[in-house]
Amino acid sequence: MRSHRPAVPTGPGGTSNRVSVAIIGGGIGGLSAALSLLQAGVDVQVYEQAPMLGEVGAGLQVSPNAARVLHRLGLAGELARTGVPPLDWHQRRWDDGRTLLRTPLAGRLEAAFGFPQYQVHRADLLAALANALPTERVHLGHQLTDLADRGDHIQATFANGAHAEIDLLVGADGIHSTVRNLLFGPQDPHFTGCVAYRGLVPADRLDHLDLEVTAQLWMGPGRHFIHYFVRDRHLLWFVAIVEQDTWTRESWTERGHLADAQAAFAGWHPQVRAILDAADDAFLTALFDRPPLQRWSVGRVTLLGDACHPMLPFIAQGAAQAIEDGATLTACLAQTGPDVPGALGRYERLRLPRTSRLQVLSAANKTRLHLPDGPQQQERDAQLATGSTDWSVGTIAWIYEHDPAVLDLTHSPT
Ligand SMILES: Cc1cc2nc3c(=O)[nH]c(=O)nc-3n(C[C@H](O)[C@H](O)[C@H](O)COP(=O)(O)OP(=O)(O)OC[C@H]3O[C@@H](n4cnc5c(N)ncnc54)[C@H](O)[C@@H]3O)c2cc1C
Repeated sequence: MRSHRPAVPTGPGGTSNRVSVAIIGGGIGGLSAALSLLQAGVDVQVYEQAPMLGEVGAGLQVSPNAARVLHRLGLAGELARTGVPPLDWHQRRWDDGRTLLRTPLAGRLEAAFGFPQYQVHRADLLAALANALPTERVHLGHQLTDLADRGDHIQATFANGAHAEIDLLVGADGIHSTVRNLLFGPQDPHFTGCVAYRGLVPADRLDHLDLEVTAQLWMGPGRHFIHYFVRDRHLLWFVAIVEQDTWTRESWTERGHLADAQAAFAGWHPQVRAILDAADDAFLTALFDRPPLQRWSVGRVTLLGDACHPMLPFIAQGAAQAIEDGATLTACLAQTGPDVPGALGRYERLRLPRTSRLQVLSAANKTRLHLPDGPQQQERDAQLATGSTDWSVGTIAWIYEHDPAVLDLTHSPT
C-alpha cells in the first residue's frame, strides 16, 4: 500500500510551516482551488478518480466574477486566446425570434466589474488549469473511498490502496460527492424535471446563418435553447433544455438521440432548427440539484463546488461559484494559518449564504424560462422589456461584482 504524506517544508526550528491539503476531484472546482492554494504557498495535492483529466465537450460561460479569480491565477492569456467574449446577451422568443431583451456586454462588463465574460470550451479551461499545476501534484486514478479524522490530521483512503495523511481534505467531487456522503450521510439528488441535449457544431457549417457573436437564449413553452461560440469561434455550442417527467439513468456522457432534440424543437424558429440539424450528435444529461446544505464542514474536512451547492445551470453560475469557493478558502487559510477548523468555519460562513441564494434563484428560473404562452409569459416579456430581470447588468451586479478574496463577513450576502 502506498502512502502519500506530502513533503512539507519545515520552518524555523524544524516545525512544519505549511498546511497540507488534499483536494478530491479534478474538475474545474478542484483544479482552480488547487492552483489558488498552491500560489498561496499551500502544500496541495489533487486526487481524481478518472485515469485522465477531461471534460465532455461542452460550453461554459465564465462570468466576470469567475474571470476575476482566473485572471489572478494567471489564466487571462489562455482565456483571451481560446475564449470568446460575447457582444451581447440576447434573449429571444421561441417561434418568431423576436428580441425580448438584448443586454450589451462587450466593454460594459469590464467597465462595471473590471473583468469580461468569456464563452469557453470546458476542455480548454480544464487544460489551462491543469497545465498551470505541476503534474506531480495531480494523482489520477485515485478514487476516494473513505476518510478518517485522526484529530490532528485526516487519513484518506483510495480504491487503489493508496492513503494520504493531510491537515485538510476538500471534497470537490461533484454532485454525487463521496466526501459529502461520508460527512453527512447519503441522500439522493433531486431530478429537476429537465433534461439537456448538448452538442458542438463546427462554426463553418453555420456560415449561412450569419450568427451574431452573442450568447442567445430562446425561451418557449416547457423548454429553452441556448447557443454561443467557443474555442476562438471555431465551434458553436448549444444546449437544449426540455422538461420531462421522469428520469431513471444518470450520466454526463450518455449519447442522446439528436432526433429527439430535433423533435422537441419542431416548430421553433428556423435558426434553432438549423443549428440542431447541423449537429452530428448530442449528449443527453438529466439535470439534478439539491437543496442548500446547512453546513459544509466537519472538523478538518469541507466541500467545494457541486459537491455542496449543485444548481440548475439557468443562471450559469455553478462553475463560477466553485471557482469562487477556492479563492475564499485560500484567503481564509492565509488568514488563520494552522487553525484549519477555524478557517473552514469562516469559509463556510462567507460562502454558504451566497451559493444558497444562487441555488434558489437558478431553480426559480426554470419556471420563468419555460412559461407557456399566455398572461404570465406576457408579464415576463413586459418585465424583460423594461430590463428589470435577472439578466440585466444592473440586477446581476451582486453576482458579478463579488470579490471572493475579500473576507468581509459583515458584507456576506444573504
Ligand atoms: C448544461 C449545463 C450547462 C452549464 N453551464 C454553466 C455555465 O455556463 N457557467 C457555469 O459557471 N456553470 C455552468 N454549469 C455548471 C457547471 O458545469 C458545474 O457547476 C461545474 O462543472 C462543477 O464543477 P465541480 O468541479 O464542482 O464538479 P465536477 O465538474 O462534477 O467535478 C468533480 C470531479 O470529481 C471527480 N470525482 C468524483 N468522485 C470522486 C472520488 N470519489 N474520488 C476522486 N475523484 C472523484 C469526478 O471524476 C470529477 O472529475 C452548467 C452545467 C450544466 C449541466
